[in-house]
Amino acid sequence: MSRNLSKVESCYLKRIYTSVFEDGRQITSGDLARIFNVRTSSAIDVLKKLERKRYVKKERYGYVTLTRVGYNVAVELLHAHRVFEVFFVKNLGMSFSEACRAADDVDHIFDREVVARLCVYLKKPERCCHDRIIIHKGCGAKGR
Ligand SMILES: [Zn+2]
Ligand SMILES: [Zn+2]
Ligand SMILES: [Zn+2]
Repeated sequence: MSRNLSKVESCYLKRIYTSVFEDGRQITSGDLARIFNVRTSSAIDVLKKLERKRYVKKERYGYVTLTRVGYNVAVELLHAHRVFEVFFVKNLGMSFSEACRAADDVDHIFDREVVARLCVYLKKPERCCHDRIIIHKGCGAKGR
């Protein structure tokens, strides 16, 4: 993906996206700390790194959200994440939670071209195993 994102950073981007833009729930550093089972200070450290990369911005009342660039990166990450999940469950017979964990390990590393090929191979799946919608806008997978 060549965005130089760590696994932790990409997990925060994905989580902020699903919470704010899919579930319509605003999120704070405290929420993220609880979700990832870390101290609030370490959640704030990760958010600061993402702010410096201009992917995340602070809002009023302690809420955080994605910048336009961060939003696009999160969409790309979640596309890769969910395509990998489908592959791991359908083709490798992994459980949903195993697939999710394995997808977290690789979704931020793989080149978008490789993900697009996998996406075509899987016939552009509509949803991941958790029934989350997979957005193919910009995934680059052409045809079937
Ligand atoms: Zn997942
Ligand atoms: Zn999923
Ligand atoms: Zn796709």
